[in-house]
Amino acid sequence: MILTGASSMQREPIVFVGTSDLSAHFRGKSFPAADLPVKLQRGIGKAPTNLYLGAFGPIQVTTFGTVGEVFLMPDPAARVLVPFEASASEYFFIADLRTADGEPWNFCPRQVLRRALEALRRESGLQLYATFEQEFTYDGVPAHPWRPYELEGLRRQGLFGEVLLGALRQAGVVPDSFLAEYGPRQFEVTTAPAIGLRAADEAVITRELVRAVAYRFGQAVSFAPIADPNGVGNGTHIHFSFLDADGHPVLFDPQRPWQMSDVGRHFVAGILHHLPALCAVTAASVASYYRLRPNRWAPVHADIGSADRAAAVRVAPLNGVDPTQHASQFNVEFRVCDATANPYLALAAVVQAGVDGIRARREIDPNSRRALPGSLAQALALLQQTPLATDWFGAELLAGYLLFKRAEYQALESLDESEICRRYAEVY
Ligand code: GLU
Ligand code: MG
Repeated sequence: MILTGASSMQREPIVFVGTSDLSAHFRGKSFPAADLPVKLQRGIGKAPTNLYLGAFGPIQVTTFGTVGEVFLMPDPAARVLVPFEASASEYFFIADLRTADGEPWNFCPRQVLRRALEALRRESGLQLYATFEQEFTYDGVPAHPWRPYELEGLRRQGLFGEVLLGALRQAGVVPDSFLAEYGPRQFEVTTAPAIGLRAADEAVITRELVRAVAYRFGQAVSFAPIADPNGVGNGTHIHFSFLDADGHPVLFDPQRPWQMSDVGRHFVAGILHHLPALCAVTAASVASYYRLRPNRWAPVHADIGSADRAAAVRVAPLNGVDPTQHASQFNVEFRVCDATANPYLALAAVVQAGVDGIRARREIDPNSRRALPGSLAQALALLQQTPLATDWFGAELLAGYLLFKRAEYQALESLDESEICRRYAEVY
């Protein structure tokens, strides 16, 4: 992998500018870092049709054909520069997608999330405070014996975890935990919550740095929802709470049902109300639905549970006896998400459903246990039947997304579950 003597050759830094697209792959373009000042102003041209680059690479459908141009605009607030010894640096920016007139492009996932966060602010005055907890498999350890949560499991991965935590911190993402998870070769990384858009940016940065560090160790990782239909899944759980305009936590209220403030309860009730349809965006692949099966610590109903890891929405338990800490600790975990979901669209879907809950003053029905959809096809049909989804995502993006995802499952129709899992594990 490393060219002997490369360090003595003349090298020129390359910077990558990209966006997490409909398939949740981080795609974009790269160029000499010396050109960055100009690119920050003008952006980098991209064919609109590339929106339809599928999870597996090829474009299955396109509504754009070969014409048009949109622009990746690097966001200076989402810059990552992590040097690696004897290797190229990880140097990238997350970008917005703009039209030639400089307007946000209707298909820009970051813009969809900004709109959702703005709807939350208008409706409640609140800011979202969130983080994505990500599970993945790391090939740098043996699959057998299986070492769930063992110190030996942590030890065996060697320096991978330490280098990862160092890389995250250099990228401005605060690591919270790194551990050997339940499944063979499975690990989990969690990071501190961040406000609004930054939470989804950090999900992208974290995922890329997990890959970046594994690559430097000559190993592969996979965030695919499930590698074997009978195995253990990789979830991407979204933890959230709210801050008021002054930064004070406002989800916790020990006097109210579920220990949740009224606004928090209405928000969660909105999520539960819309959950089967939200799956089309948060459990965004064919394999996602093999993860959402009984006895996997993964949800199968649109339900809520206090400290219950089988529930779709888990009210996370409080830690410690100091009540002054409780309000800032209290959070809710949305567990019906995996890494095939675009983090911006997934978070936007959750927030918009929550905002609908606040508007309609929905209440949590603890006895409601509607089944989650059993397939991507079912979930997409439910999303299509949700009138509000047109406002949440915009008519154009919603139509494009349905087309895109239907092409994805149609392309896999002749394959069995194991082969489908294998294909996803290769590309996520
Ligand atoms: N691996 C489980 C999932 O697919 C979650 C296990 C856990 O609670 O950490 O969601
Ligand atoms: Mg976990």
